[in-house]
Amino acid sequence: MTRVLSVASECAPLVKTGGLADVVGALPAALAAQGVTVRTLLPGYPAVMATLQDPQVLWDEADLFGGPARILAATVAGLDLIVIDAPALYARQGSIYLGPDGRDWPDNPERFAALCWVAARIGAQGAGGWLPQVIHAHDWQAGFMPEYLHAMGASARVGTILTIHNIAFHGMVDVARIDALRLPRHRYSKDGFEFWGRISALKAGLMAVDRLTTVSPTYAAELMTDQFGMGLDGVMRLRRGALSGILNGIDEAAWNPETDPAIARTYAAPKGKAPNKAALLAELGLPAAKGPLCIVVSRLTEQKGLDLLLDALPVLLQRGGQLAVLGSGERWMEDAFRNVARDVNVAVRIGYDEALSHRMIAGADAILVPSRFEPCGLTQLYGLRYGTVPLVALTGGLADTVIPASPAALAVGVASGIQFHPVTTDALRGALTRLCELYAQPDEWARMQRNAMRQPVGWGPSAAAYARLYAEVTKSA
Ligand code: ADP
Repeated sequence: MTRVLSVASECAPLVKTGGLADVVGALPAALAAQGVTVRTLLPGYPAVMATLQDPQVLWDEADLFGGPARILAATVAGLDLIVIDAPALYARQGSIYLGPDGRDWPDNPERFAALCWVAARIGAQGAGGWLPQVIHAHDWQAGFMPEYLHAMGASARVGTILTIHNIAFHGMVDVARIDALRLPRHRYSKDGFEFWGRISALKAGLMAVDRLTTVSPTYAAELMTDQFGMGLDGVMRLRRGALSGILNGIDEAAWNPETDPAIARTYAAPKGKAPNKAALLAELGLPAAKGPLCIVVSRLTEQKGLDLLLDALPVLLQRGGQLAVLGSGERWMEDAFRNVARDVNVAVRIGYDEALSHRMIAGADAILVPSRFEPCGLTQLYGLRYGTVPLVALTGGLADTVIPASPAALAVGVASGIQFHPVTTDALRGALTRLCELYAQPDEWARMQRNAMRQPVGWGPSAAAYARLYAEVTKSA
């Protein structure tokens, strides 16, 4: 049994702002089947602390980046958690990353340095007699971990992996905070965590871990280009030998059209979708229409390409299609979607609503993911599972998970969705037109739905890939 400590700032179902949480929450169970035991280290936000019953105190820290802390262990929702109870850092209401002014909490570097510091201590000294062989860090919030592990003298014994869920977030810090962050000054260089005169937590991790992964093979290749590398493409090229792409899976128990408690009628075949579509139209106040009901479930940000959809929308509506959007994000985009919702065939719900997201994915004909970049993407996978045909941009994980309805794929009967490229309004218009044409051919459409529902979207092969990687970096018994 390989022993792995997973280190992250989010973990479903306890605390989630995006796909990172889904992955961190799902991997431990998927890996158990591969003979890997995972403990997950999380910050003790109020939402996490509220779930702990009779936690075991592992040890106390007198001063953890600005205050005392207790390191706790407990089992929650089947997850073996280690939680940092540090009120000075985490006992705050609202967003886990942003203050009431909508900006990053000013002490985010310290808040997540604390996460890394405790992770490294567990690597060096263990937690209640349990010593990890591998520490698996996620995103910039866990980026300083290998630096601390090295400083504590444990990097020769503990293997390290960093997974990039989104390279857009770097965790930048002013260099004046280097001592406060307990970082070694001699590593402030281009071979370490220096990035254009500042400290980058993500770069610290990228340079110092044994192996890097990201969440799809295509995104792994894209990260080495200046179009997608967000300034770190040179670092990615430097470390290409350590980098691999492992596709995310979905939680097949939570997202199962045959058993989903959130939807009106469960179904096994695409035709069982009809009652869910009728219920969804009624719930959203949309009329019956001859074209496809398309949905978006997403953060409303430029990354997601939804400004392109705002421009291309008339093409869908003119062909009798409909649009329903569930999301929240940038204010201007929320307003723009509220504005288009004046059309009788458009419904918009601003907010975050897990149950509604299930009803939408179960009831819709198609799910739109026109992202400018998409490390993996989860909603197209939910769509596949529910026979909700994905229309996606040809990028990142979207390219790796949808079999596009090219003439060749249609001819051999394997298409499961629609892809467009380049990621422009015109190409999206073309894809929406194609979607409407295919929807108007019921046999072709039903075959795509069946293909989609047959596509494997679970964790099995990817959990096996992580297990192999852990075995490769393991340095001690
Ligand atoms: P990202 O992590 O970039 O936001 P992903 O597709 O990887 O994108 O993951 C997004 C996750 O958040 C999915 O599980 C999706 O269903 C969920 N989600 C996004 N917005 C909403 C919302 N408004 N309501 C409910 N779930 C949402």
